[in-house]
Amino acid sequence: MRGKEITVLKVPFHPVDMEGALEEIAGFIISGRPHQVVTANPEMVMAALKDGELMQILTGAELVVADGIGIVWAARRLGTPLPERVPGVELAAAALSLAAENGYRVYLLGGAPGVAAKAARRLVHRYPGLEVVGVQHGYFTPGEEEEVAARIAAASPHLLLVGLGMGKQEKWIHRHRQSLGVPVSMGVGGSLDVFAGRVRRAPAWVCRLGLEWFYRLLLQPRRLPRMLALPKFVLRVLREAGP
Ligand code: UDP
Repeated sequence: MRGKEITVLKVPFHPVDMEGALEEIAGFIISGRPHQVVTANPEMVMAALKDGELMQILTGAELVVADGIGIVWAARRLGTPLPERVPGVELAAAALSLAAENGYRVYLLGGAPGVAAKAARRLVHRYPGLEVVGVQHGYFTPGEEEEVAARIAAASPHLLLVGLGMGKQEKWIHRHRQSLGVPVSMGVGGSLDVFAGRVRRAPAWVCRLGLEWFYRLLLQPRRLPRMLALPKFVLRVLREAGP
């Protein structure tokens, strides 16, 4: 069972390492009931402080992990350390590997047209035995939303990866979780682009130094305005932690 929740600026995180997070996910699938998994970074915490709906979803999610070094630093600074960072893309990969080993069905939702399909082809190659029961790009209209959800429910996956961008994907999952009936739905941001080979992850040494965010910024300068949330996050944590 998961341990006590640790809050970082009011957002509750579960103190699990990668292995623990995967154990939770395995348990969720076995239980069969719908569960929402969130990988939250400082940007998401700052967004939730301004967006009550998002905050409520994070508070109610069955598993919220620390996506990145910023959250791990904050938790330590606040005197309630988390075991380690659990990057979303790595947790998604581990869940796919678990699915391949156990014959769990997977559905990929999100990304530009063609991305989820390409990701599926590459993932099946990487995880032999992986059963992807459907893909859907992330640029459908609000009018098509119910139809998209119905198609996913009909495919009856055990694991649904949703890459519609931070916040949007969490709300989408929350809106549809009961009707979908999928045991594990997880927001994965741009991970489908990574799995499709469209976006490269930072080299291991960059990740080890905790500089993956900087690498992503160099590759995608359009992220700069959103990254301004990071210094605000640091200041809020320092203020809350005190001297
Ligand atoms: N995306 C989508 N539908 C939308 C908006 C975004 O499918 O309406 C996808 C986009 O193609 C990309 C992902 O959502 O694959 C967001 O990626 P980003 O790296 O910006 O992730 P974030 O940091 O926002 O989670």
